[in-house]
Amino acid sequence: MRRQPDILSIVAICFFAFMILNVLRDRGVERAVSTQPFENSADLQAQPDEVMKTAGQSELLLLEKAATQQPPAASLSFDPEAIAPPYDHYTLTQGPHGQSYGHLAIDISDGKGAVLKSPINGVVTALFTDDLGNTTLVIENEIYQVIMLHGLYTVSVGEQVALGQPIGKESNQGNTVDALGRSCRGRDCGYHTHLNIFDKRLGANVNPLELFQ
Ligand SMILES: [Zn+2]
Repeated sequence: MRRQPDILSIVAICFFAFMILNVLRDRGVERAVSTQPFENSADLQAQPDEVMKTAGQSELLLLEKAATQQPPAASLSFDPEAIAPPYDHYTLTQGPHGQSYGHLAIDISDGKGAVLKSPINGVVTALFTDDLGNTTLVIENEIYQVIMLHGLYTVSVGEQVALGQPIGKESNQGNTVDALGRSCRGRDCGYHTHLNIFDKRLGANVNPLELFQ
């Protein structure tokens, strides 16, 4: 009768010891899981021998890789979706028009000589005077192609321009008219910018007024 409690005691002690070991093991797993994000780099997983390096060395390697893989800072701020009117303030002188020649343009004005600004972050892809005498400036990026007419433009083809960067001044070059529809060629009237915006994602012109809302 004396042996039985001893056996029970031994069984109980073994059970508690087993439980304590389990708890300790579980805590170890938790700790391993909680530190996993720090070690869970593609490099370390792909190359198990990297794990053997000290943390300091691994961090240095990762920092070096990050530095070489980072794109130039300039391209980070070169948002192709950003778009704004070419003036700080302007008056709409004609709503969407020009569908007969493939435009959905607006005419806007801030007066003779007003500073024109690039409506997008892009590159000047064309600058010419068309058959009607319209000075024509084209700025584009991977999303937008912006066409502006009638101004005196001071940028050149191939030049990279930032949103809001001055690109010229408002004028009346080419086919512009006064309030009565009379040509302003050689006259001091008809100053404005004809602005057409093509969205390459849609494959269509878009109403600039909707973009500027
Ligand atoms: Zn127009």
